Amino acid sequence: MEKEIRFQCPVASRCGGCQLGRMSYREQLDAKQAWVNELLRPYCRVEPMIGMEDPFHYRNKTHAVLAGDRRGNVFSGVYRRGTHEVVPVEHCLIENELADRIIGTVCRLMRSFKIRPYREDARQGLLRHVLVRTAHVTGQVMVVLVSAKPLLPCKNDFVKALLAAHPEITTIVLNVNDRATSMVLGKRDIVLYGPGTIEDELCGRTFRISPQSFYQVNAIQTEKLYRKAIEYAGLTGKETLLDAYCGTGTIGLCAADRCAKLIGVELNPAAVCDAVHNAQRNGIEHARFFCDDAGRFMLRMAAEKRPLDVLLMDPPRAGSDENFLRAVCTLRPARVVYISCNPATLARDLKTLTAHGYRALRATPVDMFPCTEHVETVVLLSKGEVDSKKIRVEFSLEDMDMSEFQDGATYPQIKEYVLEHTGLKVSNLYISQIKRKCGIEVGKNYNLPKSEDSRQPQCPQEKEKAIREAFKYFGMI
Ligand code: SAH
Repeated sequence: MEKEIRFQCPVASRCGGCQLGRMSYREQLDAKQAWVNELLRPYCRVEPMIGMEDPFHYRNKTHAVLAGDRRGNVFSGVYRRGTHEVVPVEHCLIENELADRIIGTVCRLMRSFKIRPYREDARQGLLRHVLVRTAHVTGQVMVVLVSAKPLLPCKNDFVKALLAAHPEITTIVLNVNDRATSMVLGKRDIVLYGPGTIEDELCGRTFRISPQSFYQVNAIQTEKLYRKAIEYAGLTGKETLLDAYCGTGTIGLCAADRCAKLIGVELNPAAVCDAVHNAQRNGIEHARFFCDDAGRFMLRMAAEKRPLDVLLMDPPRAGSDENFLRAVCTLRPARVVYISCNPATLARDLKTLTAHGYRALRATPVDMFPCTEHVETVVLLSKGEVDSKKIRVEFSLEDMDMSEFQDGATYPQIKEYVLEHTGLKVSNLYISQIKRKCGIEVGKNYNLPKSEDSRQPQCPQEKEKAIREAFKYFGMI
């Protein structure tokens, strides 16, 4: 790789988006590698980071904040780090160049159509942000105009003028965000032109991307990352594969022809809709996608003792959670491929997994975000030989709150009702005891005595009465 690639960005010091922009690309890769090596040192050796040949203009999603000056000019930029002050940016070294040009045109058209940018402090004006998504392989382009109100003056003429300037645009969406929030997008999308979604290809598969779904921002590196993850998964065609935190299903669907059954779980409903569509679009019939919290979903899989051979997990920056990791250790898939965009939370979660019998065998960082401090890493873990007694004690489902999966009110709802009506605090154990007395299904493993002679505290009469009242209130008895 070229040793001396340098990034000379005129707004670097004010923008703050490229924390490593002052380093040469080689230095950036070395710094990131050292960081990952350090964090993963207790677990496994780290292979050399996969960098980019050309680390410029890789971002396929460009977000610009709209703002205005006193003379009525509209400009676009980014928030200065940690503030809501807009730093004007016309050309960015890491964003897609066509996207930058489109955003420039939107600003000019806003001035000629007298559409004001939204001012957060005064809560006045209309357009807040522009989001442009470009598809790497198909070349399709989506423009999302984020508006404080569900309207755009002279809508048809505005759309016509934007398309005339950039015929590459394949869809335009008006997103309505009327809340005082730091979230860019609101919930409502109004399609102004085209299908409202774009399609792109990764590893030979076609994927639909909607305005609200997560899609990896660097397509070139995503393919390298996915190939590495699929290599680590060691699939033979017979496995049940779970793609957890699956977004639009991309990684699982890229691996689908190497497994017998694919399950995906994702919290964002729009992404799940895209995932279901993407499975159909690629003729994949053995995939099922679920909209749920990944931790809760895994607990249910563990409670139902569903077979799982290989787990691919790709959580957000915060990493995974305790429910999820505990359920992994209960289900014990032979291999876990952990894809992480934050080495710090990755190291934290590896500590839990390796403490319970998993061994980290290989790790490869992939530079998905040149110039920034962010690093993506993929780690292969394998189920080691473990002391099964220890697993049973520490990960038995007895301690897990499975209440979300039962009929009637949840345990927290019952507790809240009891506290509000009687001032008494009741435990999960007491609730499950009274459920059992009332003949309500408790879930096979929930708070069963550990052995016949084990002594559990028994629910006092006063609390039993209060819990029964709550059951009646929620129509459970
Ligand atoms: N694997 C996908 C997406 C990874 S990003 C890809 O490569 O494109 C992480 C995803 O986790 C996002 O789609 C986000 O919506 C989802 N997510 C965040 N918290 C979650 C949770 N608690 N349960 C399930 N999915 C979650």
